[in-house]
Amino acid sequence: MLAQYSGIAPKSDLMLLQKLGEKLKGKSFLHINSTRAGGGVAEILQRMVPIINSLGIETRWETIEGDAGFFDMTKKVHNALQGNFEEISEDMWQYHLEVNRRNAERLDLEADAVLIHDPQPVPLIEYRKSGKWMWRCHIDVSNPVREVRSNIMRYARRYDAAVFSVAKFAMAMDISEFIIPPSIDPSSEKNRELTAEETDETLVKYHIPRDKQMILQVSRFDRFKDPIGVIKAYRLVKKYNDCILVLAGSPATDDPEGEAVLNEVKEYAENDPDIFILLLPPFSDKDINALQRSATVVLQKSLREGFGLTVSETMWKGKPVIGGAVGGIPLQIVHGITGFLVHSVEGAAFRIRQFLNNPGMVKRMGEKGREYVRTNFLITRQTRDYLSVWYVLENKGGEFFEL
Ligand code: UDP
Repeated sequence: MLAQYSGIAPKSDLMLLQKLGEKLKGKSFLHINSTRAGGGVAEILQRMVPIINSLGIETRWETIEGDAGFFDMTKKVHNALQGNFEEISEDMWQYHLEVNRRNAERLDLEADAVLIHDPQPVPLIEYRKSGKWMWRCHIDVSNPVREVRSNIMRYARRYDAAVFSVAKFAMAMDISEFIIPPSIDPSSEKNRELTAEETDETLVKYHIPRDKQMILQVSRFDRFKDPIGVIKAYRLVKKYNDCILVLAGSPATDDPEGEAVLNEVKEYAENDPDIFILLLPPFSDKDINALQRSATVVLQKSLREGFGLTVSETMWKGKPVIGGAVGGIPLQIVHGITGFLVHSVEGAAFRIRQFLNNPGMVKRMGEKGREYVRTNFLITRQTRDYLSVWYVLENKGGEFFEL
């Protein structure tokens, strides 16, 4: 399976990945998160689990189950870790633990390495069996509500290691902390090359006209993604450039706020015939791919962002991105080189117009962005990093340099 990345991913990543595979072959690796569809974590796991399996490491991906009350609570935790004040009672924390206890009974937690993704399943550490346990935080925790962070840390500090996407998210935890940014799979349906017919098919399906320049943002309907800010920026631009705006998003089963935010966005769009709000079914990967390839300007105007896979996805397609200067976005956008970082609606509008009016600049920056993703944000690099952390934990770092 690694062979398909040869000539695409950096050779050094592939070599190290193969070596780590040899060292860990025959062992078992368990990933647990809270949804199979929607959002970046599921996106990565879908692609990474088969790769690790192909190395001879027996890899499973499980998701925890919970009711509406559980996911309301965990969305509050998510929002609070990203800086919004939320009221979370002691009863809710107890329920968080209780739902995880039930999941621990249902799931086989036996594995040589267990990687728990995000706060929803973090209490599973209480039911740890053997193996090395790592907690993977995908959230922007640069400015969390302290009390909520402390409640999560009660569990997180009992792991063998914690993994964050960006250095400034790391916390003083008394356990090993590693920085591993997420990644995209160049061979997935979302990122593979498309023919002109395949791209057109999507535009026809969603009745998107081809005679106007397109501004696009792809993201869950989440306030931290600032869809209203995107509409405001589009309205400023629209005074000078005739263009359309496409906001595309799918529901995620662990995100109960999506519908309310979608309604707010629709209301704010006021039936503007040039705003296309697309609620796509889960796994609309080819359609997202086609939209990213068809857009003239792609935004990720987040106000908080763990990483923002959509940025690398777009850059891989040779397009620079205009992104909020938050969380993991500045890792990907080198301001003025692979895109632009913005801090306001006005800033976003200014940069959108710059791109709409300068196709040559878009092309030049887009080429640099693709190379930047190739070097830093492909799935082979991230898989290599996870296996390295596991290997280091097993060998306490001692043997590592014998590779
Ligand atoms: N995505 C999708 N369909 C949608 C909206 C988003 O497949 O309608 C994908 C998107 O292409 C990306 C992931 O979901 O791969 C979102 O990851 P990101 O890191 O940008 O944000 P998150 O949702 O994890 O906060």
